[in-house]
Amino acid sequence: MTIQCDLAIIGGGIAGYTAAIRAAQAGKKVIVVEREKLGGTCLHKGCIPSKALLRSAEVYATMRKADTYGILVTEGAISLDFPKVQQRKENTVEGLYKGLQYLMRKHNITVMQGSGRVIGPSIFSPKSGSVAVELPDGEMETIVPTNLIIATGSRPRSLPGLEPKQGEIMSSDEALTMDELPQSILIVGGGVIGVEWASMLIDFGVEVTLIEAASRLLPGEDVEASAELTKQLRRRGVRILTGIQLKLDTYTYKDGQASITADTADGPVILNAERLLVSVGRQANVEEIGLENTDVRVEKGVIRVNGFFQTNEPHIYAIGDVNGGLQLAHAAAHEAIVAVDHMLGGKELAPDHSRVPRAIYSKPELASIGLTEDEARKQGHDIKVGKVPFQAIGKAHVLGETDGFAKVIADAKTNDVLGVHLIGPHATDLLSEASLAMLLNATPWEVGQVIHPHPTLSEVLGEAMLAVNGNSLAF
Ligand SMILES: Cc1cc2nc3c(=O)[nH]c(=O)nc-3n(C[C@H](O)[C@H](O)[C@H](O)COP(=O)(O)OP(=O)(O)OC[C@H]3O[C@@H](n4cnc5c(N)ncnc54)[C@H](O)[C@@H]3O)c2cc1C
Repeated sequence: MTIQCDLAIIGGGIAGYTAAIRAAQAGKKVIVVEREKLGGTCLHKGCIPSKALLRSAEVYATMRKADTYGILVTEGAISLDFPKVQQRKENTVEGLYKGLQYLMRKHNITVMQGSGRVIGPSIFSPKSGSVAVELPDGEMETIVPTNLIIATGSRPRSLPGLEPKQGEIMSSDEALTMDELPQSILIVGGGVIGVEWASMLIDFGVEVTLIEAASRLLPGEDVEASAELTKQLRRRGVRILTGIQLKLDTYTYKDGQASITADTADGPVILNAERLLVSVGRQANVEEIGLENTDVRVEKGVIRVNGFFQTNEPHIYAIGDVNGGLQLAHAAAHEAIVAVDHMLGGKELAPDHSRVPRAIYSKPELASIGLTEDEARKQGHDIKVGKVPFQAIGKAHVLGETDGFAKVIADAKTNDVLGVHLIGPHATDLLSEASLAMLLNATPWEVGQVIHPHPTLSEVLGEAMLAVNGNSLAF
């Protein structure tokens, strides 16, 4: 059967479903093709389930130090029911999944369960961009859209010899569905996912070794923020090894123990753990989606797009993880809006990657936007830095979470805010004020004039903005 529509979208992750809603709001007939579950990685294998597990880990860790808050728990009374932790995670995802399905119905968006593949010019259409959909029962449908969006996302990257293996080696996909916790784990890769899992698992009482090939964790983040996070994770018991290269061919698994040798500056070390979690980045899903039938270009494993996410074929867009951008859910959603508005000829806001916030849900949380101090200097900015620790903030003491700081990097000549880096309690929520400030082009002085309620953690950003010109009142 052949179905005509204004917009077909291959992939129903956050990029795909956001684009669908935006186009449907403009009165367009939209079909989303999804081969697994609407919601994609973020809802089912990423943001939401991982944060639900992190929340349980946080509650568990807080309860174990309840006496700090004057609450006595009789010894042995606190224990972990991990299957129930997993069930809570599933319930959280399920609730949001239902909400998303409702949104699709509300906007009259057709969600077609099946695997989509772009087909070239055919009897259906003189140009490529029609989509052949293989349905779960093996039947085929053909969609002939005016525009096509490819939003097929990404999957965990694996290392040769360290591919996921039941009971031994996991990617984040398998880790999310573990039915019991290992006693010890070796996490390979100190990027966002590795750091979040290290933080979660140490709170759950697992012995964690976290290794990173670069000279520091989170190499893309500000040096000071990454150093602070490393310090705090070490303080909580995570063994962290940086600048280390695994010798992949030395991997063995025997009697429930994984073992692998790594080269370090001090010579080879043997690393042992009950399980391995490989978190070395994600790979775009560009295969088997029919790109060979189009002029869409793939470079370095991702779909090449212009500033409005158009591929080489102007009626075909590629958004989200598949175009190799920031690989963040909110970036994917933003790209969806920009792409659809552009497609509909609207007054789209040109996307600016420097204004995409980054959030890491470790303990303490790390959140940032814009340039790091090193990047700002490398780009030739004469900079001023304001930095205020959470130690100076009353609410942080009330919470008993005073580690970390807010750091603002501003251009000394123009007074533009170039970057904001927060590490500490609720940093990921606090960052939005910095995002707004950067969108509105506010100067540090202007943000410093905002009246922040007291006592709140939000005061840290106001103080750091004032500190840029040496005017912090709290520090
Ligand atoms: C463990 C983990 C934690 C994360 N935490 C965060 C976080 O806290 N915050 C954040 O911003 N980001 C986070 N991310 C990243 C975030 O999940 C992704 O950036 C986001 O999901 C990308 O959305 P997307 O729509 O581009 O792709 P996806 O969500 O991957 O969706 C792509 C969809 O396309 C479907 N598909 C693929 N090929 C086909 C085909 N041929 N036919 C039909 N359907 C197809 C897939 O089944 C999938 O549903 C996390 C990722 C992971 C793995």
